[in-house]
Parts: sequence; structure tokens; C-alpha cells
Amino acid sequence: MTSQPNLARFNRIVVKVGSSLLVDPAKGALRQDWLDALADDLAALHRRGADVLVVSSGAIALGRTIAGLPKGALKLEDSQAAAAIGQIALARAWAQALAARGVTAGQILVTLQDTEERRRYLNARATIARLLAMRAVPVINENDTVATSEIRYGDNDRLAARVAAMASADLLILLSDIDGLYDAPPNLDPKARLIPVVERITPEIEAMAGGAASELSRGGMRTKIEAAHIAVNAGVHMTIADGRVKNPIQRIAGGGRATWFLTPSNPVAARKIWIAGSLELKGAVYCDAGAVKALRGGKSLLPAGVVKIEGSFSRGDCVAIRDADGFEVGRGLIAYDSLHAEQIKGRNSRDIADILGMPGRAEMIHRDDMALRETGAD
Ligand code: GLU
Repeated sequence: MTSQPNLARFNRIVVKVGSSLLVDPAKGALRQDWLDALADDLAALHRRGADVLVVSSGAIALGRTIAGLPKGALKLEDSQAAAAIGQIALARAWAQALAARGVTAGQILVTLQDTEERRRYLNARATIARLLAMRAVPVINENDTVATSEIRYGDNDRLAARVAAMASADLLILLSDIDGLYDAPPNLDPKARLIPVVERITPEIEAMAGGAASELSRGGMRTKIEAAHIAVNAGVHMTIADGRVKNPIQRIAGGGRATWFLTPSNPVAARKIWIAGSLELKGAVYCDAGAVKALRGGKSLLPAGVVKIEGSFSRGDCVAIRDADGFEVGRGLIAYDSLHAEQIKGRNSRDIADILGMPGRAEMIHRDDMALRETGAD
């Protein structure tokens, strides 16, 4: 059987922290010692050069205590108000815990649309990339204050998987109140066995997670398996590990009990496959020979190399990249809508702000947002 991978091989890691770990369920208060120990673990990953992202729940749990709301289910408006109050406290706790270890935190609150709508997806992805380049740790939660039940994730497991895909992370760690996936409910069946490695999410594995997701099973094993689907399809490995211990990441590094979901792919390849195959083309950009050569050399497509724009598209849409004769060189997610692309084509990136009257990205299509066709030659 395949063994569990070594934590040291991962370079961009998303750590998802559940409410019940961070906030004492009985007292409704932050578990500061636990957070400090986790921050030690995260700072250690950061020091060895890994990019670290945190998806943290806990806004509603903290906010309801601060606001003095009763225990039990909350009405939507109350949970939104609790999230508004609690998110400030949550962000402060993270910023302070990380700052005490020399690490800068940056808060990102996302909605479902930010991860699903192409234009907003590109924006969120660019901000995350910038924060990581600055060596900051993005601390991410759903923007529960404005998301209503129909258009929200509701659970941070799937949100964390989408963030991991969006950030091209190579590992997602779901810290949970259980140490992994069992072949039977461990609380009911003493013979239940932990599955250490899942190489493929088969119907059998699905069945182990229990029934369909519901309000009650929010954050349960079901949403974790859904998260695993999202992660492995995006080329991200995922692990479900026990977060109840102190220094849970150290424990994973030491080969502690956990369930690993492995992906045969990697984030860059998975993204390129997605771009190459699964999107509808909204238009085309035609490039000169110099630009085609640069693309094949691994560069981004700059406006200067574009000779013609075809079609009507929005920022984030998928377009064909063609050479001057019309042969498709590849496909990519374009950083400008067609009107703006038309205005800046053939121009130097330095002039973009003057031409459009607003700042824009130097690349018409960034190399990470592009999948080139094989040429057969090398
Ligand atoms: N976003 C919610 C919060 O911060 C939590 C969602 C979840 O528990 O997965 O309170």
C-alpha cells in the first residue's frame, strides 16, 4: 500500500481550522494556548520557506459569545451579526499570534461568487499570489455577513478546498475533531478502522462518509469528502488530521494518524488541463511571431505582441491564442475584457494606465493562466 507522504515535500500549504478547535464549545471563548501552539507550527513551516494559508472558522462561535446570544441554532440575521462581531476578534487573534512569531497576516473574506465567477476568481487569486510573494499568511474565511444561505458555502471544508485550488497549493490540511476517515462510525463500532491513504475516492469511500450533507452534518465527514474531490481534481493532496492535540502540524510531520487523499496530478498541470479542455472559448487573440516564441519559452502574453482581437469577452474568460496565420497555439484566461484588450493591443505594458485611464495587469494572459498546445518539436 502507498505510504503517507512526508510533510517536508510540500511548498504551499492551506491549513483549515474548525470552530470547535479554536473556540471552546462550552465557554465560547478562544483557546489561546492551542492557537499559540498552532501558530508555532505555522511559523516553522513559514521559516523553512513554505507558503502558508489559513482558512479559519470561528467567527460565528466567537461573535455569539461577545454579543451574548443564546445557545442553539441562530436565525440567519443573528448568525450574520455574530459573524460580523466575531470576525474582528478572530482576525485580531490570528494577526497577533502570527505577529508574535514574526509572521504578517492578511485577512481575506470571500463569498461563493469570488471563487466561482471567473473575473472575481482571477482577482482573488491575484491578491493571494501577491500576499504570498510578500511572505504574508492569508487568513481566510467566508464573508458570512453578506452571504445568504442559498449562495454561501456554509462550511469551511469545501471553501478551503476551493481556496487551495485557487492558490495552486500542493497540500490542504483539514484540522478536525477526528483523526481521519474510518471504515465505520468509530463512536458506534469498536472495530472501526482508520483509512490511512485514499488513492481514489471510490463509492465505497463515499459510503464511509455517511449520508448527504445537511445543516446538521455541516463540517462533518461528508463535506470533507466533497472537499477531497475538489482538492484532488485540482492537483492538491489533502489530509484530514486530528486538530485537538497541541501542535497538530508537528504531529502530522511526525507521521501521526491521519487520512491522506492523494492526487496523481499537481496544481499547475491540473489547472492547465482545466484551461485546455473544459472551458468554452469566448474569443481569440492573434499574436506576432515574437510573442509566440516567447510563450513557447514559458513567458506570459504581453499586449505588445498581440496583433488582433476577436470576439466579445469579459476579463477571466477563456480565449484561444492564435499565431498571425490563425493556428491555435494555446488557450488562456484573459486579464482584460475585449474592449480594453482592443485598446491596448500592440502597445507597451507601461502605457496601459494612460490608455485605459486606470491601472491594469502588465500581462494580457499570464503564463499560469495559459495552456499551450504541444508542438511535436522541441
Ligand atoms: N464561516 C463560519 C465561521 O467562521 C464557519 C463555517 C464552518 O464551521 O465550517 O463561523
